Amino acid sequence: MSLRIAVHYDEIGLKGGNRPFFERKLKDAVKAALELPGARIRTFAGRLLLEIDDEAAWDRAAQALGRVFGIAHFGRVWPAPADIDAIAQVALAILPEAEGLAFAVRARRADKAFPMTSPEINRVLGAKILAARRWRVDLENPAVTLLVSIVGTRALVSCERLPGRGGLPLGASGKVACLLSGGIDSPVAAYRMMRRGARPVFVHCHGFPYTTRAGQEKARRLAAILLRGQGAHSFWQAPLAEIQQRIVADCPKELRVLLYRRFMFRLAERIAAREGAQALVTGEALGQVASQTIANMGAVAAAVALPVLRPLVGCDKKEIIAEARAIGTYEVSIERHEDCCGYLLPPHPATRSTAAELEAAEAALPVAELVDAALAGAERENLTAPASEP
Ligand code: ATP
Ligand code: MG
Repeated sequence: MSLRIAVHYDEIGLKGGNRPFFERKLKDAVKAALELPGARIRTFAGRLLLEIDDEAAWDRAAQALGRVFGIAHFGRVWPAPADIDAIAQVALAILPEAEGLAFAVRARRADKAFPMTSPEINRVLGAKILAARRWRVDLENPAVTLLVSIVGTRALVSCERLPGRGGLPLGASGKVACLLSGGIDSPVAAYRMMRRGARPVFVHCHGFPYTTRAGQEKARRLAAILLRGQGAHSFWQAPLAEIQQRIVADCPKELRVLLYRRFMFRLAERIAAREGAQALVTGEALGQVASQTIANMGAVAAAVALPVLRPLVGCDKKEIIAEARAIGTYEVSIERHEDCCGYLLPPHPATRSTAAELEAAEAALPVAELVDAALAGAERENLTAPASEP
């Protein structure tokens, strides 16, 4: 028998007229994640129904679906005709055999064509299970829940429900350019935007040849973790070394970090234009370091016209670390590396700059030329990471 999986989404269901659009995006994302050419996917009664010929593909499929944005929960389902005895037979075939389990039945019928109400179906199936297993009913805290969904002449029977990532399908909310350092915060910020349906373009600025290539490789590995099972996406590496040299030589030292950051934003904005991305995303959190005061965030962002989104702005470091662990980026982020921003930093960076002050400092620099040159040296890679990677 082939493998059937029901994929449930909740938020997508709320979008009224946009629903077909979101369902299409979710289908595309599921297809990209599964990497199973023979998989058939269709929408069925407010969910996606996948059919895969290879029944042994479940473990792989479950790992892949667990990474797809926009899925509330999913699980294997078994079909039955919409007939109470036939449903009971399928249920008893898939329910575990262990003794003494607490269980519940939750049935839903999509329309009134089926002659019993949902509570009646629950009662009748419950009685049949009690006759066949040494189990007890516990509606509050069941160890096993039999899920039955009746749609027209068909029923789907299931006893598992695995959590998905939630959010919206990738690409449903447009595209963003994510400024990715090698640190803890920016991968979490990118993840949060991806979870809300924004397709990422990653931009990493590096200090090579004044720093080693290790920082770049780290950012690349972080992007690859975020992209597992999401299909191919752009990963850009832009050189900042020349720009930093000029800033160090010609600008006040307490403004260095802010000026580096303004150039990073400019490079990301230019890359965003090429890629069709509509906003920049950073891992900034209010007050976390001197460069992330409200005044400094505003003064830096004034260098670009695109909106700058900061999904972590109200987060404590502790919360960000917990999230980084959960999404699998933390272990890579804490590896030691030379960050381009650690380059010749003063002991007391400015905490209250203004856009006007930073612009005045940049008057000493050929800003447009420096940006053009850095872009000319930027490298783009089409990065993919299979869903099956651990
Ligand atoms: P992170 O952990 O993300 O590095 P952080 O707390 O260390 O954040 P900063 O180093 O001040 O903060 O950087 C603030 C934000 O600027 C980062 O979250 C990231 O979005 C962006 N950024 C910093 N360095 C780079 C870089 N080398 N390339 C691209 N973006 C960067
Ligand atoms: Mg950093």
